[in-house]
Amino acid sequence: MTDRSPSPKESRAHHELFLRLSPDLRIFLPARHREAETLPVPHDGTSSLVHIVQSTGVPLTEVGALVLADGRRVAPEYRPEAGETVRVEPVECPQRVPGGTPRFLLDVHLGTLARRLRLVAGLDTAYHNDMDDAALVEQANAERRVLLSQDRGLLMRRQLWLGAYVRGSRPDDQLADVLDRFAPPLAPWTRCTACNGLLDGVPKSEVEHLLRPGTRRTYDTFARCRDCGHVYWRGAHGSRLEELVAGAAESVRAIES
Ligand SMILES: [Zn+2]
Repeated sequence: MTDRSPSPKESRAHHELFLRLSPDLRIFLPARHREAETLPVPHDGTSSLVHIVQSTGVPLTEVGALVLADGRRVAPEYRPEAGETVRVEPVECPQRVPGGTPRFLLDVHLGTLARRLRLVAGLDTAYHNDMDDAALVEQANAERRVLLSQDRGLLMRRQLWLGAYVRGSRPDDQLADVLDRFAPPLAPWTRCTACNGLLDGVPKSEVEHLLRPGTRRTYDTFARCRDCGHVYWRGAHGSRLEELVAGAAESVRAIES
């Protein structure tokens, strides 16, 4: 092992390497770096590429291919040379998840998105409003759920098996982002928004006594949660959710075509 200090004459490139981040990934950089196609980063000779990329603010969960100037793909554990340039591609969409249909776990800030994923998409979505980061990672790993979050620090945890950064501040945009990324099969109105349980169709006569007169008059299609007993009827949340279901189906079709 040589420990060689560069002479003053040696170029800056001996202390740096260069990342070419795809525009999709530059949103994670500080504003002053977002326009530049090539980002110089310090080279210490020991850090792996994953460490270097994440130190710029980009979680590995968002990174796809890592490509050297000669076109060679390298693993996140690769230790780049000084002066080397590495192209950093975004994760490929739709993203394949081991085991087929993705199941999700959402962090404490994404409660509205959790309810949307359950009702609008029928996706198996775990959510609790009281879990710390370590507990979230543990559950995601144990149950093989994709951890969805807007907290980059959480997504950068080394133990996490699979996670995804959710783009957008409005729940509708967040839903569209998740459906674009994973293109999961959709089964609207099959899951309880409250507890993630599965819904069964139920005859009106069985739930009539639970309904207000207006609801009893207006609706004929009902479902009940197997786990918590919550009763649903079409239109209960207004046509807004129906629109969301249609919108979600369209965005998935757009990907497949
Ligand atoms: Zn329920």
